[in-house]
Amino acid sequence: MTTFNSLVNIKAARTACRRFEATFKGQGPRYFQDVQILVVWHRDSYKCINCGSDHRLTVDHIKPWYLGGETRIKNAQTLCKPCNWDKFREDGSK
Ligand SMILES: [Zn+2]
Repeated sequence: MTTFNSLVNIKAARTACRRFEATFKGQGPRYFQDVQILVVWHRDSYKCINCGSDHRLTVDHIKPWYLGGETRIKNAQTLCKPCNWDKFREDGSK
């Protein structure tokens, strides 16, 4: 996982993100790239969108990858690890 600091340039990250997402059509790779994670965390204010925690953050596919969800920031949301696990369990029980 990338560590972030004050030198991070969010504009450059967004550009890199767009470039990366332009390299594939459709679903894309299984996992988000570090630069996508940065952009999504920044967009979601470095907080879990479910519970508001700022600890142990992850980036989650809104539509799960195994159901055809794309690895793009428009299909990404910030979740903390516990919320991500809860979502995974719910998804898995459907
Ligand atoms: Zn959470």
